[in-house]
This record gives sequence, C-alpha cells and structure tokens, in this order.
Amino acid sequence: MEKIIAHLEKSGRLLVASHVKPDGDALGSLIAAGLCLETMNKQVTFFNESPIPAVYRFLPGVDRITAILEPDNLCGYDTALILDCSDLDRVGEQASSYISQIPVVINVDHHITNTEFGDLQYIDIRACAASQIVYHMIKKMGVSISQDIATSIYTGIFTDTGSFRFSNTNKAAFEICEEMVELGVDPYNVARHVYGPYSLARIKLLNLALDTIEISANGKLSMMTLTRDMLNETGTRQEDVDGLINYARRIEDVKVAVLIQEAICWRSGRQQESKKKKHNYHVSLRSDGSVDVASIAAVYGGGGHLTAAGFNFDSSITDLKDGMLTLANKI
Ligand code: 5GP
Ligand code: MN
Repeated sequence: MEKIIAHLEKSGRLLVASHVKPDGDALGSLIAAGLCLETMNKQVTFFNESPIPAVYRFLPGVDRITAILEPDNLCGYDTALILDCSDLDRVGEQASSYISQIPVVINVDHHITNTEFGDLQYIDIRACAASQIVYHMIKKMGVSISQDIATSIYTGIFTDTGSFRFSNTNKAAFEICEEMVELGVDPYNVARHVYGPYSLARIKLLNLALDTIEISANGKLSMMTLTRDMLNETGTRQEDVDGLINYARRIEDVKVAVLIQEAICWRSGRQQESKKKKHNYHVSLRSDGSVDVASIAAVYGGGGHLTAAGFNFDSSITDLKDGMLTLANKI
C-alpha cells in the first residue's frame, strides 16, 4: 500500500473507476477515493460505465460520476485507480482499452479471482469490501474523513456484507462503521435508501422469475432464468434484477443458486454490413459457503467471491442450463 500511496501523492490527474452494474461497494469505494483525492488537490474524474441504480442515488457526490470517457482527453491522465474489479474488463470493455493506455494503472480490490492486473496492486481478499481498503488508504494518507466520504465508506461496507449478515462480515466492518457513524453517518438514512420501495415492475418480474425455478435431481442446485421478454414485458430496469437470486438461494437444502439472465448484444464485424444477433447471458452464482462459486465462474471467464460470483457467456440457453445443472453432480 505504501507504493500506491507514494504514487497517488505525486500524481496530478486521476481517473477513478469501478465495475459495471455497480453495487454499493463499487460506488462507495469510488466516491470515497475520489473525494479523498480531491481533498489532496488532485484533478479527479469519477467514472462508471453503467447507470446508477436508484437506491444509490442518495450517495453524496454521485452526480460527479460520468459514464463517458473522451478518448482525446485520456492522454491527460497520469493515473487510473481501479476499485472493486477482479479484472480490468470489469470497468466495461471499451473503457478498459482506454484505461490500459493510462501510464499507471492501480488495482485495489478484494475479489479472490483478482488477476493482479495493472502496475500497482493492493488486493486483500479478507477485506469485507473495497471500501474497507479505501478507508485504510485514506487513514494512511492522513486525509480527514468528511461526512460525505464517511457515508460512502459506510454504504460500501453495509451493502457488501449484506447488512453484516454475509460470511465476509469481519471485526473491521463493525469498527469502521462505528467510526463512520461517529463522523456523522445516519445508519437509518442509509438503510432506508438501500432498502427503498420496490417498483411494481420488480414485483411483476419476481412473479415471473419464481415460476422459472428448477431444482437439480439431488436438490442441491437451484436455477432461475430471466429472459429478455420477461424484462421487456414487465418494464424492469437492470437494477430490478438485483437480489432476485436470493429466492433461489434460500430454498432448503440448496447449496448453489444460479440465475441466468438473457441479454442480446448486437455485434457487427467492422467489414460486415449486416449485424449478427447473438445470445449472451449473464450468470450469477451464489453458494451457502460449502461450494466455491468463484472458481466455477472463473472457468467460464468470470470471477467473484467464494459465495457470490458471476460470468458472461455466449451460448444457447439449453446448453447453458444443461451445463449449470451438471454442476450439481459435483456438489
Ligand atoms: P452478480 O452475480 O451480483 O452480478 O455478481 C456477484 C459477484 O460476482 C460480484 O462480486 C461481482 O463482482 C462478480 N461478478 C459478476 N459478474 C462477473 C463477471 O462477468 N466477471 C467477473 N470477473 N466477476 C463478476
Ligand atoms: Mn465489493
């Protein structure tokens, strides 16, 4: 961490970024680090490629986050600080190719599948959240934690530990959050946003999703499937899918839950006139702790944590479902 801090202290213009489809930790660590660097008089761009889910729009400084990178401006950055990403592509495919041109790329993360990309790395898989690491970094840099930074750190830890319920909940989670509350964070205010009301569309999607649940022959794996039609029919946004997998995960005897979500990408070859429609799926995996789903996701080119992981895959739905169901034989 000392090398990273020494570099940050001498840097001038930074791009701070976190993973696509951001959660509370991706946004919390991004905002906390960005605001801290601004306090140090650095020029900072806050970047996340995806829309900000409504539940996180209460975060201070969230409006600072841009989804657009101007390639012409990239030459101005001396440093990219990448947070909560197990590989550089997690910032988004296009963004990752821009970012890899920035002279120094710093990788700060807590995923077990981190590829150690970048020029400087700080990876702590025992950290409950990337926000925990950012907290330690800010402390070491001697920057005082404003209420806005505190709210971001608190939200990152609160959400990545599933409100202090998941197996990554550690002593530091409580200690840091206690300190953040002393610095002015209102836990009720964070909770009421994070657990805000559901859209009617989400409830309708839940209804369709529950009907798709399939259980492997040995009862140890559950699978939920969301098609593009279901998302269109109910008018849901991507963020309405968050958490649906928990219904599949909490079924008695289930050790691994799978959520398959269909996306359709339009891929056009540079020389081709016609576009080729290809089925791409995002697969989310959750386990009860007895199965390492990060290594399963890694086989498919994804990653994550022991109990929560994911990957993107081009396939036919039948092959993908068959592949996932055969995982049950090894549990
Ligand atoms: P989710 O299933 O909620 O999308 O993600 C669960 C966990 O898996 C998160 O820690 C997330 O960072 C990781 N994850 C999800 N999708 C991918 C992916 O496509 N690639 C990698 N490397 N990690 C992923
Ligand atoms: Mn995280």
